[in-house]
Amino acid sequence: MDTVFGRIIKGELPCDKVYETDEIIAFKDINPKAPVHILIMPKKAIPNLQSMGEQDLGLMGKLVVAAQEIALDMGVADNYRLLTNNGPKAGQSVFHLHFHLLGGKILGDLD
Ligand code: 5GP
Repeated sequence: MDTVFGRIIKGELPCDKVYETDEIIAFKDINPKAPVHILIMPKKAIPNLQSMGEQDLGLMGKLVVAAQEIALDMGVADNYRLLTNNGPKAGQSVFHLHFHLLGGKILGDLD
């Protein structure tokens, strides 16, 4: 099923892109919850973290490296949180795997 992120990846919708490789794209969240709020995701359409498999182990490492590089670029390498919402009850609203990189302020407790 196509999602809004699938359409951004295909270039059908605009985004404020901060990072891209052949497998990964990252762009600013449209409704930022922190001074730095970047969405990092594979271009491959994987619905969420729980849908990843053994075949995606390399991709997971690349997503983490992307997060490190983006945090450095954004000047928040010592002040960020990387998270993913898995499933509607965890707050997932777009069913294309993505990680939120939040930073640039004092981050509060998680629920
Ligand atoms: P989720 O709730 O699935 O963990 O996160 C979805 C995130 O995508 C939300 O933080 C929301 O603000 C962001 N978002 C939804 N639609 C768009 C869009 O069209 N463009 C961008 N840049 N972010 C979006």
